[in-house]
Amino acid sequence: MEDHATVTDFDSVLASRGVTRRSFMKLCGAVAAAAGLSQLAVPRVAQALEESVIGATKGDLYPVIWIEGASCTGCTESFAQIETPDVATVVLDMISLNYSETLSAAAGHSVEEAKEQTIAAGNYILVYEGAVLEAFEGNALRVAGEVGSVALVQAAQSANAVVAIGSCAVNGGWMAAHPNPAQALGVQQYLQKVGVDTPVINIPGCPVNPEWLMSILVDVVVMKDPSLIELNSFGMPAGLFDQTIHDNCERRGHFENGEFVYAFGSEEEKKGYCLYPLGCRGPQTRSLCGVTLWNNRRSWCVQSGAPCVGCCEANPNNPGQNWVEVNTPFYRRFRTLPIGDLQFQPGAIALTLTGLVAAALVVHGFGMKKTGRMDGGAPFEKIRKWDAAHPEESIGTYANPETGGPILSEELVDENITPASDHKKKH
Ligand code: SF4
Ligand code: SF4
Repeated sequence: MEDHATVTDFDSVLASRGVTRRSFMKLCGAVAAAAGLSQLAVPRVAQALEESVIGATKGDLYPVIWIEGASCTGCTESFAQIETPDVATVVLDMISLNYSETLSAAAGHSVEEAKEQTIAAGNYILVYEGAVLEAFEGNALRVAGEVGSVALVQAAQSANAVVAIGSCAVNGGWMAAHPNPAQALGVQQYLQKVGVDTPVINIPGCPVNPEWLMSILVDVVVMKDPSLIELNSFGMPAGLFDQTIHDNCERRGHFENGEFVYAFGSEEEKKGYCLYPLGCRGPQTRSLCGVTLWNNRRSWCVQSGAPCVGCCEANPNNPGQNWVEVNTPFYRRFRTLPIGDLQFQPGAIALTLTGLVAAALVVHGFGMKKTGRMDGGAPFEKIRKWDAAHPEESIGTYANPETGGPILSEELVDENITPASDHKKKH
């Protein structure tokens, strides 16, 4: 139970930062959600956070080392753009950033000494930004006269946890794009190779969303137990990376209605239709961008009219499965339709068992119509116009309502369908 003095201290800390208790509790809710904890855990998060802030005001700061590997410094820049004053400043007041090549005021030998002293004292968090480079025995990257991968191992082996931020740190990112001449790979895979078993928390993105990093820092620092964070099989916080962009997209209704943007500058774009034909990777990219939002919760890629390019795609066990390799060319639609973990070839779907998926999509569409969710929208299309006009590239697959079997690709075309040439621009 908190004593009155502590509450007063904490309230004055909040007040001095211009933060209301209400927005502080909102932060606690977001932290709990990011950690995969239920909302019942919010009071526990709030209490731990208060105690840590009060401890910090008495000089008991949690040490953090932030090392950059092969990176563009975009994640540091993104984090530095958190607006102040807000709840983030309260959180940042809890940590002591003892080493950062970009953010530290000190430079040269003095900052390198600060890093060594922090490592020697132990009980710190390592934030690692950028890829690990193995080429030329690690000499493809040298920092402060030292091989980059050696600096990583030295800092990681005594840390309480390593937080790998950005897709480059998770699996090499664009540094690992073919032919990957610097032999880039992610932090988790490299540490496993060299036998360092410090827990790694992967937060992909290009750059990382600063609010995700802040939430995880709070979880690690405040809860004092990295194992409390529920991670998925990729070592990513489940609360942040287990839903697809598509699951939370405000344009999803248009996807369901078959209302797509086929060209930038078109009427469909003005109407805010779905960006899938322009190459949106939302259906297969797992992250919470549409909920957390970006730029201090102002907007996000799809809201601002840009198809998701899947920058959170990062398999920490496979540098080849990086978001650049998997998703380029950007702004071009995949020839396959990813649904969950499965990839469907639209041309083949109509002739195979995967017609069942089509049936499910159509049934889903009928269900929306029946329940009125499509009222006021476009007339329901049994077959999307785009698919019918481009049977060889159709997005969906369909079941014949009379036979229950798949519709053959030649049956997709009929005289009522807009010819492909009517579209201003083929994708
Ligand atoms: S395909 Fe992209 S724009 Fe369309 S609903 Fe899904 S995430 Fe949104
Ligand atoms: S919406 Fe897509 S491209 Fe944009 S930040 Fe999220 S994962 Fe990256």
